[in-house]
Amino acid sequence: MRKLKIGVIDLVAKGPTRNLWARTMHANLASIMPQTIAVWCEEEGHDVTFVCYTGLENPIEEFPETLDLVVIGTFSQGAQLAYALSNLFRSRGAVTVLGGPHARCYPQDAQKYFDYVLGFTGKDVIRDLLHDCSPHRPIGVHLSANGQPMTLPSVQERWKFIELSHRKAPWIKVVPMLGSMGCPYTCSFCIDSVVPYQPLEFDVMKADLRFLLGKFKRPIVGWHDPNFGIRFDDYLSAIEDAVPPDSVDFIAESSLSILSEPHMKRLKRNGFKMMLPGIESWQDFGNKSKTGKHSGIDKVQQISEQVNMILRYVPYVQTNFVFGLDIDEGTEPFGLTKHFLDITPGAYPAYLLLTAYGQAAPLNLEYQREGRVLPIPFYFLDSKRGMNMKPKNYTWETFYDNVIDLIKHNISWQSLFNGYKAIPHSTARWLNVIRVLPWFEQLKYYREIRRRLDVDPQFRPFLEGETTEIPQFYVERIRKSLGTLWEWLPEGALYHDPNAYLKSEENSLTQLEKSP
Ligand code: SF4
Repeated sequence: MRKLKIGVIDLVAKGPTRNLWARTMHANLASIMPQTIAVWCEEEGHDVTFVCYTGLENPIEEFPETLDLVVIGTFSQGAQLAYALSNLFRSRGAVTVLGGPHARCYPQDAQKYFDYVLGFTGKDVIRDLLHDCSPHRPIGVHLSANGQPMTLPSVQERWKFIELSHRKAPWIKVVPMLGSMGCPYTCSFCIDSVVPYQPLEFDVMKADLRFLLGKFKRPIVGWHDPNFGIRFDDYLSAIEDAVPPDSVDFIAESSLSILSEPHMKRLKRNGFKMMLPGIESWQDFGNKSKTGKHSGIDKVQQISEQVNMILRYVPYVQTNFVFGLDIDEGTEPFGLTKHFLDITPGAYPAYLLLTAYGQAAPLNLEYQREGRVLPIPFYFLDSKRGMNMKPKNYTWETFYDNVIDLIKHNISWQSLFNGYKAIPHSTARWLNVIRVLPWFEQLKYYREIRRRLDVDPQFRPFLEGETTEIPQFYVERIRKSLGTLWEWLPEGALYHDPNAYLKSEENSLTQLEKSP
């Protein structure tokens, strides 16, 4: 096989930006799979140029003029940028490949703009791709393994690519690691709920942690496990076995059911500094928070006590909430969240608006059958800006009024002061200050959406699903964000079929019925 010139791009940003958060933290949001694919391509004997695109650089200038193959990894919010880049690289003779969450959620759409679209990706899938590597147009080929790979390259093997990303992180340098894949819980909106839980090799993890102690005085490791610590004792024993207590700073996303006081003591002893538990809803998902049948104010009280306990052991806790769930009604979910913030001022809240990402979760089939999914351009699907589901129990006006009111509460002087006072750790304090800044931007954005619901004649028909014509407001934002790459956005690439998952399932069923 001839030696290929391959470009691998990890799209952390969805367009050029220079804001403070991007400059300090974007490079720390690098994904593991693009680094993994880069390692596998090199192992197959090819030349790889790797770029973690943070929004601060020109993605084109970072690559040689000619490439045989370009692999892009992105979340859905980066899809329009990825489509434009694919078009540009194809014009220079490259074959293009899309991987990452967008490829898994919207394969039918991505196949229109890429030669290959990756589902579950193991080394065999990449090897097959490299052997064929021929263009497939106008519709690309969907390649997928039966499940997630059982092993991934270690940090040592990915190190060269991790370092490249770290050069763009001026102060804090987080090393992405993975201890497990999938999740045993079944939260209906989550892409990991349909991936069987699978721990990765403990020996590799231990060797990686020792390796990092040789690279940094005090490494910072971000666990990318969807739910860290499912096999709590096994993981913590492996960490304790590998490195001295509290010699590495760890960041992890875990469900509250895992974060009991004895577990928190052990996590603190081992250097865990930042925990991100999902609360999601005051009315639902009691199993993952171990609140059982408790809901409403009882659940607020119980979780607040637990989060305040967690804050005694780790300085930074981010609590994730989802709004717009079918179980939510009236002002109660928002009012309870405000109350939670008042009695848990040290926690940083992250608000997500219910978004049905293509075929991420089986529940999306139901939403599509009900005709509730809207073709909001991918660019806005970051769980914050572009809720693509018509809420069941709210009008759009009441929904946004409630969200605006909640954020105003969050950024009131009283809340900010209480939050600042409640965190004794100086780095966590400042991180919270930096992280408050986007709220002002978010509030401005929601107010604009709310205003347009009253005055923009294109808005309401689109959000009510009466037309698929995308309001100019959305188009202009994407055009501005893509800058010169707007010219490369293929025709029709702002639109997508929000019911593609349902149609492909129905097609498969018809094929099955026809087969003898
Ligand atoms: S607990 Fe977290 S990772 Fe697991 S299914 Fe629920 S949201 Fe997803």
